[in-house]
Amino acid sequence: MSEADSRGRVMVVGGGITGITAAIEASEAGCDVILVERSAYLGGRVAQMHQYFPKLCPPVCGLEINLRRIRTSPRIRCLTLSEVVEVQASDGWHRVTVEQRPRFVNERCTACGACVAACPESRSDSFNYGMGTTRAIYLPTDLAWPFRHTIDPAACPGEQCGKCLPACAYGAIDLKMTAQRREFEVQSVIWATGWEPFDASVVDGLGLHSNMISNVQMERLAAPTGPTKGRILRPSDGKEIESVAFVQCAGSRDENHLKHCSSVCCMASLKQARYVRAQYPNADIYVYYIDLRSPGRQELFLAESQQDERLHLVKGKVAKVTEDGTSGDLIVAAEDVMAERSIRQKVSLVVLATGMVPALRNHSASPSSMLSRDPHGFLSNAQLLPGHFAAGCARQPMDVASCVRDATSAALKALQSCVSSHRG
Ligand SMILES: Cc1cc2nc3c(=O)[nH]c(=O)nc-3n(C[C@H](O)[C@H](O)[C@H](O)COP(=O)(O)OP(=O)(O)OC[C@H]3O[C@@H](n4cnc5c(N)ncnc54)[C@H](O)[C@@H]3O)c2cc1C
Repeated sequence: MSEADSRGRVMVVGGGITGITAAIEASEAGCDVILVERSAYLGGRVAQMHQYFPKLCPPVCGLEINLRRIRTSPRIRCLTLSEVVEVQASDGWHRVTVEQRPRFVNERCTACGACVAACPESRSDSFNYGMGTTRAIYLPTDLAWPFRHTIDPAACPGEQCGKCLPACAYGAIDLKMTAQRREFEVQSVIWATGWEPFDASVVDGLGLHSNMISNVQMERLAAPTGPTKGRILRPSDGKEIESVAFVQCAGSRDENHLKHCSSVCCMASLKQARYVRAQYPNADIYVYYIDLRSPGRQELFLAESQQDERLHLVKGKVAKVTEDGTSGDLIVAAEDVMAERSIRQKVSLVVLATGMVPALRNHSASPSSMLSRDPHGFLSNAQLLPGHFAAGCARQPMDVASCVRDATSAALKALQSCVSSHRG
């Protein structure tokens, strides 16, 4: 497809479960699709999960088949490490400029890993939310597509080092690669840019403690591909845990931070309580909540969880978390509304159930002037220009099943928009 007379009709921005679904649906209905993903791989936050509620299956279940449909589709062109930097609309068409950052590794890469062994530099492991490090050249995830290494330019000194070059038997590393801009003419754009985890360290009283993690980090701790190979251990000393406290609404439904409810955190914590129970049959698990939200059929998951006698669901907001200097344990101070008393509970590990912040909210490179947001920073379909649609968590917090439905709906609207701009 040449850039100028591109046959692409629909652009999907964001390659998480929402963007992947929208791209597949639009392409299988006969449209050409350009899928633009900011990171080095497709899959979004779902690729970082250990298991999905309600069925508790691993993300590979849903992702692998979809990635195969993308890989084998003649109608989908996928650009990773890419972002939209400009959109100009005229006559039902949109001229979109996309900037692609260099991967420094070309398609000859077989992901053999010889380059990783030769690389002396390291970086914080963003896939594991900062728990551990990778080399400056790394494979983003075991499920990565494209299944190819990438270099983090912030951690790599480039040709001054160059130790990876002779290590690669396939000539796949090109340290001279530069960023490229491309223009595409499309008839509609689906924004599926998803969410980022809220940084709860700014919430008064919670603080930063070595044995306190966020719910997204818990997903990685429990995952066999995570930093502890799936063992849920205390971060400070790698010891087994005796008890865990989940602090719900850590910054959410709070006038000072996130006013909205992220709708999935209660279910995520109940799911993560199952991860703990699977490894520690005798651990005490405390969930401190304002309201427990388990909509629709997820009520069954809550009812099953309530059968666990050592899972304590405590209605009450956590006021403060402090550290016991000798043991490294954490002390959770909360109110127990039902018992009408204040409590202090010592636990080995605290998990903050942090909410979702729209990924586009603070993104300087996005064409922010044309993308109106609601008061919480999410994109609002009612306010977008004709031919632009928002889907999944870019629009509002939702679970994976809802994202898939929302993506299908956005693909249908995008197709209708293509048809009407043809007639016009
Ligand atoms: C702790 C936790 C556990 C959860 N567990 C479950 C569960 O078990 N079951 C369930 O159903 N749901 C669960 N969820 C919800 C689930 O994570 C979301 O439903 C899902 O990630 C939404 O997918 P998405 O594609 O809309 O967004 P994302 O997964 O965020 O994907 C968005 C994609 O867009 C890309 N992107 C962002 N900005 C740009 C840009 N400017 N340009 C190009 N690309 C961009 C991102 O890199 C990313 O790949 C959980 C949520 C949390 C917080």
